[in-house]
Amino acid sequence: MLPVVALVGRPNVGKSTLFNALTHSRDALVADLPGVTRDRHYGICRLGGRPFVVVDTGGLSGVEEGLDALTARQVRRAIAEAQVLVFVVDAREGLLPQDRAILDELRRSGKPIVLAVNKTDGLDVHEALGEFARFGIAATLPLSAAHRRGVDELIEALLPWL
Ligand code: GDP
Ligand code: MG
Repeated sequence: MLPVVALVGRPNVGKSTLFNALTHSRDALVADLPGVTRDRHYGICRLGGRPFVVVDTGGLSGVEEGLDALTARQVRRAIAEAQVLVFVVDAREGLLPQDRAILDELRRSGKPIVLAVNKTDGLDVHEALGEFARFGIAATLPLSAAHRRGVDELIEALLPWL
């Protein structure tokens, strides 16, 4: 069994872009499982030393009502099957209340968390990271998933749990 890494965060922060950056190696296997796993996308990352399964999720809003509750259930399943969580946030939008709510939920899982501060392209990285430092997550990394910058460093930060 390969270790599982779940990508979680608000909608639109760049989870799927990161998923593609991690899994679009030549022999990537991307499977959309039908039915109940509609909102979860699995792929294999073969970059770096050890292969691992990546689970893309539909995104947590931090406010769970109606359809959001359905997606949230899927995200919780992804969290439950993961060895390590990549919490993706958006440096351009900054720290939002929903991010705090999502982090609370991730922490309740007891799983290790790596914070990926995405969309740092064209930004002052130091400033971008500074705002999220208040989360107190030791593994906090700048990322530009769209430009594949910081992807290798992210994989390296996951290694202890792979
Ligand atoms: P998801 O909803 O979290 O899966 O987010 P997506 O991967 O669908 O990306 C949402 C939007 O953010 C898209 O328009 C992406 O092109 C854009 N995006 C993703 N990563 C980056 C990045 O590193 N830099 C910038 N500037 N935009 C990005
Ligand atoms: Mg997505």
